[in-house]
Amino acid sequence: MSPQFNPELRRQTTDINTMRPYNFSAGPAAIPLEVLERAAKEMSNWHGCGMGVMEMSHRGEEFISIYEHAESNFRALLSIPWEFKILFMQGGGLGENAIVPLNLSRAQEVDFVLSGSWSQKSLKEAMRYCSPKIAASSESNGFHEFPSPRTWNLNPKAQYVHICTNETIHGVECHELPDLKSMGCVAPLVIDFSSHVLSQPVDWSRVGLAFAGAQKNIGPAGLTIVVVREDLLGHALSICPSAFDYTTVAKNSSMYNTPPTYGIYMAGLMFDWLKQQREGSLTGVWAMQKRNQEKARLLYEAIDASSFFSNPVAPLSRSLMNVPFFLADPAKDSIFLKQANEKGLLQLKGHKSIGGMRASIYNAMPLDGVQALVDFLKEFEVHFA
Ligand SMILES: *Cc1c(COP(=O)(O)O)cnc(C)c1O
Repeated sequence: MSPQFNPELRRQTTDINTMRPYNFSAGPAAIPLEVLERAAKEMSNWHGCGMGVMEMSHRGEEFISIYEHAESNFRALLSIPWEFKILFMQGGGLGENAIVPLNLSRAQEVDFVLSGSWSQKSLKEAMRYCSPKIAASSESNGFHEFPSPRTWNLNPKAQYVHICTNETIHGVECHELPDLKSMGCVAPLVIDFSSHVLSQPVDWSRVGLAFAGAQKNIGPAGLTIVVVREDLLGHALSICPSAFDYTTVAKNSSMYNTPPTYGIYMAGLMFDWLKQQREGSLTGVWAMQKRNQEKARLLYEAIDASSFFSNPVAPLSRSLMNVPFFLADPAKDSIFLKQANEKGLLQLKGHKSIGGMRASIYNAMPLDGVQALVDFLKEFEVHFA
């Protein structure tokens, strides 16, 4: 059982470990305490060099070693083949909504699958640089499922096909990447995997480009990771800013301009943490996948068993990372949030566009945190339903 959260005790105690509340924020999101504490220890003097990471030249040997360690661990954790470049950029997920078409569209037609707010936003931004077509959409059913590839109407002229593999707001996840080749499509698949990167392995044989903002499942905001197959480089539009031309960024090992150095360092600490995670004989992202499946099953089972709480997403499309849920009586939303906070269950308020609640249970959320939420749901239902 998780310890009861007592805000008074939290202020007094030095043992923050047992008293730290559980943070369900969708992003920027919780970071494991061990990672934060290691960063705190190294804040002003990294490995005895007399400088903090924020104060280092990005071209100095200290930072280069931090960068190379982070990059090689990220490649190893996700088993990224060598024909893919890993780019550490700035601009966030929304930046990539412009940077991807600037680099890959050749100002021609591209395909989008709409499965929620994020893919919709990506489509809208792409319209400024190329001609997107909608290959499939689940908007008519309220974005409650990921459109099955069998229903996609792919455009043979499309330069790429964009999907969002985890819709952070609607709580919809694509659990198996589509095999475009077997669908007769030669265009590369572009995935926005911002909110579930590193939560599970990726089948890179099906991917041309993947991008993720760091602030959901990796570390602090400011770093954006792009994984791009080499043969897709070299076709940026002439209006593409040099700092966002993947070819330029790749040629300069992400140091064409100053990269988000502290974000890269924090990501590196998170990768170290991930490598140490174990579930039985599984390690790294395989262990995380198992743990994430258990966490999600526990929470969805509690919601489905309740007549007061509900989740509208089709079971096969439910996200393991972001779980939106609704109270049968929205008038009780504010008392729910107040009581949750008092129990040390933080940031459960749903996204303003769909309301209700949302529990984001990224890699940093332990099973105990989900159990504490489930216990609270049951308790709340008894008293307030
Ligand atoms: C959070 C998020 C983004 C974007 O984020 P910014 O970094 O704020 O631009 C993009 N896509 C998905 C799926 C996200 O969850």
